[in-house]
This record gives sequence, C-alpha cells and structure tokens, in this order.
Amino acid sequence: EDLINRIAAGEVVERPASVVKELVENSIDAGARRITVATAGGGMDLIRITDDGCGMDRDDLLLSVERHATSKLTLDDLDDIRTLGFRGEALASIGSVARLSVASRPAGAESGLVLVVDNGRRSGPMPQAMNRGTVIEVRDLFSQVPARRKFLKSARAETAAITDVMRRLAMANPQVHFVLEGTDRQVSNWPAVTGEAALAARLGQVMGADFVENAVPLAMARHGVVVAGLAGLPTFTRANSLSQFYFVNGRSVRDKVLVGAVRAAYADYTFRDRFPVVALYLAIDPAAVDVNVHPAKAELRFRDGGGVRGAVIRAIGMALHEAGY
Ligand code: ADP
Ligand code: MG
Repeated sequence: EDLINRIAAGEVVERPASVVKELVENSIDAGARRITVATAGGGMDLIRITDDGCGMDRDDLLLSVERHATSKLTLDDLDDIRTLGFRGEALASIGSVARLSVASRPAGAESGLVLVVDNGRRSGPMPQAMNRGTVIEVRDLFSQVPARRKFLKSARAETAAITDVMRRLAMANPQVHFVLEGTDRQVSNWPAVTGEAALAARLGQVMGADFVENAVPLAMARHGVVVAGLAGLPTFTRANSLSQFYFVNGRSVRDKVLVGAVRAAYADYTFRDRFPVVALYLAIDPAAVDVNVHPAKAELRFRDGGGVRGAVIRAIGMALHEAGY
C-alpha cells in the first residue's frame, strides 16, 4: 500500500510546482475566495496553502488522505474512465513522499482538526484552533525519496516553476484573491477582481499594466469556439515565448495548435527572434477536446484542430486590424 502510494506519487507529484498546483486546485474546488501560498527552499522545505473554502469535517478529513478518495466523482464521470486515473490521489501521494499536515474547519464547526501523514505514517486527527477553511502544509518533500530528490532542479528553478504555476492559476481565476509569500520571494498580492473588466484587471496584476496598455481585447465566436483574452500589439514583444499563455475552459494548457495559430496570426509582422505576448482564453464544448492525454501535464487534443486554429487566427487578426494594424 505504501509502495503503491509512492509509485502513484511519481505520476502526480513530479516536483514542488505540481504539489502547489494540485493543492491550489483543491482550494479553488472548495470554493475559496482567498488563497495564500507560502513556500521555502523552492517548495522542497515548505509549501503551505491556506484557504477560506468549505473545509472538511472529521470524516472528510480522514478520507481526504486515502488513495482514490475523492468527493468530486459523479456517475457521469464513469462514462469517461480516463479521467479517473488521477482523481483522489493527490493528498495520498503527497503524504507518502513528505510530511503532510491537513488542518480543516468546516462552516459551523467550533474549531478545526489536524491530520498528519509523515511519509506514509498517519497520526491524528487532533483538535486545532483555526479559521474556517483549510491549511495544508507539505514539509521536506522527497527527503526520504533520494531517487526523486536527485532529479529536482535548484531551489531557484523550483521557485520559478511555482511562480509560473501560480500566475497561470491566478490568470484562470480572477474571482479569487491570491497571496504568494514565503522566504522564496517578495510577496505578490492579487486581490479578487470581478465584473466586465475582471480579466484585463487580473492580467494587469499578474503580467503587468504595460501589457494591458499595449494589447487588444479578443472577442470572437466561430465554429463552436469562443476566443477571449488579450493579444499584445506587434510593437510589444518579448525575447522568448514564456509570455504566451493559453487557457481552455478555464485551465492553463500547453498545445501546439494554439502556439501555431498565434505564430500564424502575427506572421505579417517581422519580429527578428522576438515573440508577441498573448493571454488567450478559449471556451469550447468539452466533448470537442480530449484533456486526458496527461492531466498533470496540461496537455490536450482538439477534435477539430483546424477549426480552433482558424478561430484564433481570425480573432487576433480582426482585433489587430481594428486597432489599426
Ligand atoms: P481530488 O481533488 O481528485 O478529489 P485530492 O487527493 O486532491 O483528490 O483531494 C481529496 C479530497 O480531499 C477532495 O476530494 C476533497 O474532498 C478534499 N479536499 C482536499 N483539499 C481540500 C480543501 N482545500 N478544502 C476542502 N476539501 C479538500
Ligand atoms: Mg485534487
């Protein structure tokens, strides 16, 4: 059982940034309005996620660290068996390769409870005074799994990967207030934004006001694909493509079709090894995408790649044209 958890951990928990992603997604799923992420030592010494979500009662808390325990499955999901592989494995996997503590207080409870799983050994739950919500701490990740620790990059590189994950999660969830802190960094504070201009406001917080000022808004619906977001002006470029962000149905993805479409959309402008900056948000019928290629790696496959490509090229082309390009 411990061995199975450790093998599963290799799939879900590749590095500190994947732990952060799993935990913050859980907080978002729990309806959190404010999520604080603190890390130390590139997340290898400490990752702490504090949320004000729905919390867990005693039974849910005990279940949460069990393998294949998830509160998120419905019968409908059984139609698509491929999504099941990674459900209900994150906390169990993390607990098998780190010192995990899960503290939670649901609405209506007078105090919280904390459960510890130290490299597979569980203790608790014990009472703990806390606000409503959940606090998850992950300490000394992979300290007992030298084979995995060996493959981690420097604390600095892991911190950069965590920052990248947090930027993507924040860009996909403007309604949530994110605070990023800890000894790894200066504090980032991205208050919740709502209303019509929420997306632009969040992109300003995360990517910088200069991007928003030098970009055109995208708004296009075509062949069942809705394209939104901001596309940087051809005069506003970067030396690499790290500032190109792609979201499909609210999740950050990496996808060759989208990268190729953006390249084609800007093909009329000569950049000399520079790259346009884009934050592209697609909404598409979930049946028209395969997101299960590898959930943890954010890969997907469009059923109609050509249609998606056309919609993106047209959305950017029209927006730039309207701006006089
Ligand atoms: P999954 O998210 O796939 O269900 P996880 O291992 O990530 O599996 O989490 C297991 C369960 O623990 C979740 O289904 C949820 O019920 C509970 N849980 C985890 N994190 C939180 C949180 N921050 N707030 C409330 N419940 C949580
Ligand atoms: Mg989860």
